[in-house]
Amino acid sequence: MTKINLNLEDARDLANRCLKHNGCDNANAAAAADRMIEAERDGCASHGLFRLPWYVSGVKSGRVNGQARPRVTQLAPAVIGVDGDGGFAPLGQKIAHDALVGCARAQGIAAVALTNMFHIAAMWPEVEDLANEGLCAMAMTASYPYVAPAGGIKALYGTNPIGFAWPRRDAPPLVFDQASSAMARGEIQIAARDGRPVPITAGIGPKGEATTDPNVVLKGAQLGFGGYKGAALAMMVELLAGPLIGEMLSFEAAKDDAGRGGPPKGGEFILAMDPALFGDPEGFLDHGERLIAEILAQEGTRLPGARRLEQRQKTPQAGITIPQSLYQEITELLA
Ligand code: NDP
Repeated sequence: MTKINLNLEDARDLANRCLKHNGCDNANAAAAADRMIEAERDGCASHGLFRLPWYVSGVKSGRVNGQARPRVTQLAPAVIGVDGDGGFAPLGQKIAHDALVGCARAQGIAAVALTNMFHIAAMWPEVEDLANEGLCAMAMTASYPYVAPAGGIKALYGTNPIGFAWPRRDAPPLVFDQASSAMARGEIQIAARDGRPVPITAGIGPKGEATTDPNVVLKGAQLGFGGYKGAALAMMVELLAGPLIGEMLSFEAAKDDAGRGGPPKGGEFILAMDPALFGDPEGFLDHGERLIAEILAQEGTRLPGARRLEQRQKTPQAGITIPQSLYQEITELLA
């Protein structure tokens, strides 16, 4: 596959121009482009420029509001609602961040219910941003029905990711961000494309049969990681990022989409806690470091997020690499 290299600022400019040319205003284009470039910077191509044509198709079809003005509502002293006005998630997430930081610092704990927005992507950017403010944070979102409930054979839950971040004194926040399914949907699709088998734990066929054939899993259902334990977390995410915040469950989102394509619509639940208002305001950072030191003292370990941070150091010099075909597709969208 022919590839081309771009520096981060050129890539950001390309994404920004492409979104503006296709119906986004400055604020919506800039927020979405920044999120895509953050993903590229950290080596997460599946949430990077690869998504741009998909975003454009969402705006062009009229499904996504490129001029969205997210609205913030204080639902309770520690609960904030952000209605994304039918736009892409990053602008609403940016606005939610500022509201959530102030509220968590005042209340000790605060949550935001993000609703009515398109394509909530990876969870690490929002939790990392909150931990950079000294807060401890969790975020989760549902999507489309891909994962069977424990014991069942029909896809019901999304691959429902959970992100978590813990602030550190002299280091970037400790962050993990993982799907609750055994494998990400995209990995199964790539295995199908490349003709590779998937682990037997990844999913089941339409009749519940065990299989390592990714094409059969795509017709059947994925499974939660660790069997019923991952399925229980997927169920929790459905409830917190669905009924709790007033958004759709994954199977409802698929019905709402009705095969129209483009990015999925939904919401996100984010919880932020200020350790300065909990049990050990002076000592929590050092205490946390003791755990991290014990983890790293064991041979073979690394911290979650370490791979991303390593990539983040390299990208400004190395730039990012995307397929020539994707670059071509994006430039055609600018014509
Ligand atoms: P991975 O399984 O690749 O990684 C999950 C987490 O584990 C990461 O924080 C990763 O850190 C960490 N990790 C990986 N290997 C190790 C190790 N050896 N030791 C310690 N930690 C490790 O992620 P997933 O495939 O589950 O998810 C990928 C992305 O897709 C996530 O960003 C997720 O939010 C997103 N997603 C989004 C969905 C949506 O509907 N919006 C649905 C499902 C997933 P590191 O990054 O440093 O490797």
